[in-house]
Amino acid sequence: MEHLDVRSPYVVDTRELGRRPGLSRPLHRTVPAPADLGTEVIGVPEGSDLRLELLLESVVEGVLVSGDVHGEAVGECVRCLDPVQRSVDVRVQELYAYPGAAAADDEDLLELQGDLLDLEPVLRDAVVPSLPFQPVCTVDCPGLCSQCGVRLVDDPLHDHDDSDPRWAALRQLAASTPTDGSTSQNTTDERPAGPDNPRS
Ligand SMILES: [Zn+2]
Ligand SMILES: [Zn+2]
Repeated sequence: MEHLDVRSPYVVDTRELGRRPGLSRPLHRTVPAPADLGTEVIGVPEGSDLRLELLLESVVEGVLVSGDVHGEAVGECVRCLDPVQRSVDVRVQELYAYPGAAAADDEDLLELQGDLLDLEPVLRDAVVPSLPFQPVCTVDCPGLCSQCGVRLVDDPLHDHDDSDPRWAALRQLAASTPTDGSTSQNTTDERPAGPDNPRS
């Protein structure tokens, strides 16, 4: 286990609790969000404020940390790619055991290092699963048109129906654009070797 740095914003000194079960003290602290606090599509930006309203309680086995974490996550709508913002309000409750007090086979249990505990893994475990798996800007976001990519919310009547004169005109234009100067009677794409063919 790496050594904890008491200057880290996530590290808390529990010495005041004096290892006396029953003692508690509040911990209100705003810390910069650690890197990668999120998923591919949404997360709390690194360095943005995470507000901790915690209570540290000395219990027989160690120090119990409980309370609330508040922050702001940003990401993008998985349907239309617009930015989305979500407030993060999660509860945490975690026991940090005194060194040696924990069952040796319980790898998930956090331990105090001396009087210090590290909040970062707890913040991560609380915040990341609370984020939406597939964030959307609004629950009924219609997303993007699969054919042209336009945002359907801007153009709810949008479609590519053949009867739409705008699209019919576009198609006609595309069909009549000559590609090689030959007539539309050509049924193959083969072109005779010409001056622009490097092998001739
Ligand atoms: Zn959207
Ligand atoms: Zn479209």
